[in-house]
Amino acid sequence: MKLTILGATGSIGVSTLDVVAQHPDRFEVVALSGHRQIEVLAAQCEKFRPAWAVVGSSEDAQRLAVLLRKAGSPTEVLHGEEALIQIASLPEVDAVMAAIVGAAGLKPTLAAARAGKRVLLANKEALVMAGAVFMSEVRCSGASLLPIDSEHNAVFQSMPHNYVGNMGQSGVRRILLTASGGPFRTMPLDQLAHVTPEQAVAHPNWTMGRKISVDSATMMNKGLEVIEAHWLFNAPADRIEVVIHPQSVIHSLVDYEDGSVLAQLGNPDMRTPIAHALAWPERIDSGVAALDLFTIAQLNFERPDLVRFPCLSLAYQALRANDNAAAVLNAANEVAVSAFLGGQLSFLGIADLIAATLDAVPQAAVPDLADVLEADRQGRTTAMKLLERNGGPAR
Ligand code: NAD
Ligand code: MG
Repeated sequence: MKLTILGATGSIGVSTLDVVAQHPDRFEVVALSGHRQIEVLAAQCEKFRPAWAVVGSSEDAQRLAVLLRKAGSPTEVLHGEEALIQIASLPEVDAVMAAIVGAAGLKPTLAAARAGKRVLLANKEALVMAGAVFMSEVRCSGASLLPIDSEHNAVFQSMPHNYVGNMGQSGVRRILLTASGGPFRTMPLDQLAHVTPEQAVAHPNWTMGRKISVDSATMMNKGLEVIEAHWLFNAPADRIEVVIHPQSVIHSLVDYEDGSVLAQLGNPDMRTPIAHALAWPERIDSGVAALDLFTIAQLNFERPDLVRFPCLSLAYQALRANDNAAAVLNAANEVAVSAFLGGQLSFLGIADLIAATLDAVPQAAVPDLADVLEADRQGRTTAMKLLERNGGPAR
């Protein structure tokens, strides 16, 4: 199988290459992309010898080309969004790992869907922003969409094999998305105002990029995942429930009308869903250790506390509001998280900024990509203005 890996230098990209390296007879890397970590990308190109590598800027493209020439690597270096779209739709490529973080991944991920590839979707923000447009591209091109997000991959594995997006017909009552609750699940509420970016990115069970780690601490990650589940499985908001499960061993569950509940379990390691999606419908070794239930001993569950985690309510609200709300929510969240990581916004200010942005942007339909991009632009500019007006950490 010939692969393009978008976001190869990130946490998901590195895990993907780890699985690929274990099966050289099965996978061939045709193209890799990375944004700024040029040395990491150069080392990946030397090892996997792709035909193409894409970076963000022309300066970085030159730096990478020099490094690769020295190493005698045959890889051709390109830069910019058009080049990402190009490597996502190369005719010789079978599958595209969409692992760019945030809205920056939307156009290349959509291009892979349009080109009818097997799309391995980690970039949940693309689906949150442009769910209707994205799913319609998948249907038109006949692309197969395989979720990499551990929860959605677990739901995919627990759904009937012939599931075609009709929960009623398949006897599915609810989708139960599990959530670890992040690093602040039990912290006294009055301390939340003062938590630092370093505390927020220190996830108890998973090692991930900084943006998704902050999203996990606010539980916006689970909110985005509720919207993601809505699009992937055609599930209405009131049939998607979030369950806090601090051990992160059950990755999600499907509750059937007859009382059966099917779940997927495993050690918290993204190489499992990545290997599942790469090899589907076959199974391959991912390098993840076998689950030892005797060591785990206990599995616990709690209802999410919406006072502690207002971002989860905001995401449900955006999903129910329909139209441009999810794209605005996503854009405001990206602005808020980067302001928090940059020290311009407090942790509690994240939810406040998103709520204020959702209130300020008028509702509009988003039938086309242009409308989605406009909603994203409005969400970003509104959030930035509100941030400047507040000047400094809120609360
Ligand atoms: P990361 O920050 O570790 O990596 C992001 C990748 O995107 C890097 O390769 C980076 O170079 C690239 N990138 C960043 N900005 C870019 C831009 N403007 N243009 C082009 N490329 C850009 O992030 P990650 O943790 O690997 O997450 C990637 C995606 O997968 C996110 O959407 C995240 O929500 C999702 N995801 C991650 C995990 C996880 O365990 N890390 C789990 C589930 C879903
Ligand atoms: Mg997840």
